[in-house]
Amino acid sequence: MLKIGVLALQGDVREHAAALAAGGADPVPVRRAEELEGLDGLVLPGGESTAIDKLARAFGVAEPLRRRIGEGLPVYGSCAGMILLANTIADPATDRAGNRQQTFGGIDMVVRRNAFGRQVDSFETDLRFAGLEKLPGVAPDAGAAPVHAVFIRAPWVESIGPDVEVLASVGLSGPSAAAQAPGAARIVAVRSGKLLATSFHPEVTGERRIHELFIQMIRGEA
Ligand code: GLN
Repeated sequence: MLKIGVLALQGDVREHAAALAAGGADPVPVRRAEELEGLDGLVLPGGESTAIDKLARAFGVAEPLRRRIGEGLPVYGSCAGMILLANTIADPATDRAGNRQQTFGGIDMVVRRNAFGRQVDSFETDLRFAGLEKLPGVAPDAGAAPVHAVFIRAPWVESIGPDVEVLASVGLSGPSAAAQAPGAARIVAVRSGKLLATSFHPEVTGERRIHELFIQMIRGEA
């Protein structure tokens, strides 16, 4: 059974653990560097990227994790987790002492935090998500069905490097559309090698295909 860690410093750890268990993996909470040993993959949950960053550094897990990602550890990040997987944040937060938030990095992309607006601008929509129809164990019809995606103070991906694949985008509406070209869309799901990131939270809706995709990526079957 695949042993998949969930970084358990802050955020919706339980929801990810449940989705991984439903996919037949063994989810384990990770708070310390030693707990990264022997993992087949890791999930960075949704929550607050600044808090997770600070706690990860305080717990001494940030540097080892950065190293493991560089060595090829498969990682899936949702929302705050997407931010933590980005090589660059367009608008990093700065604390009172003037320290900028950091990321673990791994995906050659620039993300913008809270890009769709504030908490009150959170929204749900149905998305086309590339590649789910080819997942082993998921019938092509079920795989092609749209993903119901929940965005909560979500980031978007502003730009990507050449090795990053776009899996899903969303058309803009409401306040986030005001300053954009008509019909503008933003990238909300990407893959780069064994790294996967979504702006939204499949773990809170009962959507299981994104975690299934991650499990199959670890197995080398997707
Ligand atoms: N806005 C949050 C951040 O910057 C992410 C929100 C979320 O994970 N739902 O970390």
